Amino acid sequence: MPLDAPTLMVTAVLVTAITGLLFLLSWSQTRAETALAWWGASHLVGAFGASLLSARGLISDLLSIGVANASLMLAYGLMWNGVRAFERKPLWVGLSFLGAAVWSLACFVPAFYASIEARVVLAAGTAGAYAAAATFELWRGRNEALVSRYPALTIMAAHALFCASRVPLAILVPSVPGVDPFKSFWAPILALEAVLHTVTRAFIFMALTKERAEHKQRLAAMTDPLTGVANRRAFTGQAKATMASMSGPASLLLFDIDHFKRINDTYGHGVGDLVLIAFSRIAGDELPPQAAFGRLGGEEFAAVLPSAFAGEVTVIANRIRSSFADTLAEGVPGLSVSVSIGIAASSAGDDLSALLARADAALYRAKRLGRDRVEWARPALLPPASMAA
Ligand code: GH3
Ligand code: MG
Ligand code: MG
Repeated sequence: MPLDAPTLMVTAVLVTAITGLLFLLSWSQTRAETALAWWGASHLVGAFGASLLSARGLISDLLSIGVANASLMLAYGLMWNGVRAFERKPLWVGLSFLGAAVWSLACFVPAFYASIEARVVLAAGTAGAYAAAATFELWRGRNEALVSRYPALTIMAAHALFCASRVPLAILVPSVPGVDPFKSFWAPILALEAVLHTVTRAFIFMALTKERAEHKQRLAAMTDPLTGVANRRAFTGQAKATMASMSGPASLLLFDIDHFKRINDTYGHGVGDLVLIAFSRIAGDELPPQAAFGRLGGEEFAAVLPSAFAGEVTVIANRIRSSFADTLAEGVPGLSVSVSIGIAASSAGDDLSALLARADAALYRAKRLGRDRVEWARPALLPPASMAA
């Protein structure tokens, strides 16, 4: 089936303009994601350039060649800066305009303006360079795991290669003078690629921003806003996963800051908050990286360690206890803080709530015995202390 270049060009113009408006609509709802505004502007400028390009023969060459391609170069520059905005990189607005500026200046050189090959080499080379730069930015941002990142990388790299391939082709296969550009062999191929690339890119870029927003919301729902550590819900999930991944027993540490109400009453709620933040940081530093840690609520925290070796776990617990007391004594003169810690080791068939209940009993004992200490729960199979005597 023969492809009709003018129809495809009109389709490319309309699709690019509509996706540009959709980007701007999306940006109006999530202003913080400025990449959407850059991409919206890029698509609208691109649609303008493509519409002038499509009107070749109907309008002056200055518009359909000069202004049209300058607009397309600018659209690529804006798209690339949009990717930088998405990756939270500084914006290089001047470089967005560089391609269009170089093109515009080159058009004042008669030998360049008269040569289709030279024009294709510069236009396709510039488009390919911006597409390659956008690919590079997406690749550099790969530490942020987004499922749509790899499709985005693929289509941007493919487009960069497609544009780059036009450079040697323009040199090796010169155009036939006097032939209507829409009747050339390449016209429908270029127009079809433009439509497919524009639609796919718009869809994937939208997916990238949506995915990031969902990721942020999920993280917020799992994070304690004051201390930045896992909240009770997230801790429960992580603790269960840690326990399930182990063949041997795990230990659960329950922390409760001593006389916290008194700290609030004496120094104010603000200092109380700083104590909670400091405790989270200290515990995070002292616990091994495989440990699950979170704030259960108020001044209570918990950790699950993938080890039940009493000597090792007690050393870690005591390190947290002494580091907490020392660090805050240095930070706020006169402020004395301590933490009581109850620990329980899991035995076969223990679930998290059973472990929590036993660690809580140990914590209660630590409080009764004078606070600022570490107490281990009695093994699950032994009777409680009161019955054991
Ligand atoms: P104990 O040694 O027996 O644990 O006594 P405590 O004073 O630490 O325990 P209590 O349960 O009586 O008081 C806990 C206090 O923690 C009461 C509450 O106002 C305070 N609190 C809970 N959440 C926050 C918070 O986010 N920030 C601050 N500053 N205080 C909080
Ligand atoms: Mg408490
Ligand atoms: Mg307390």
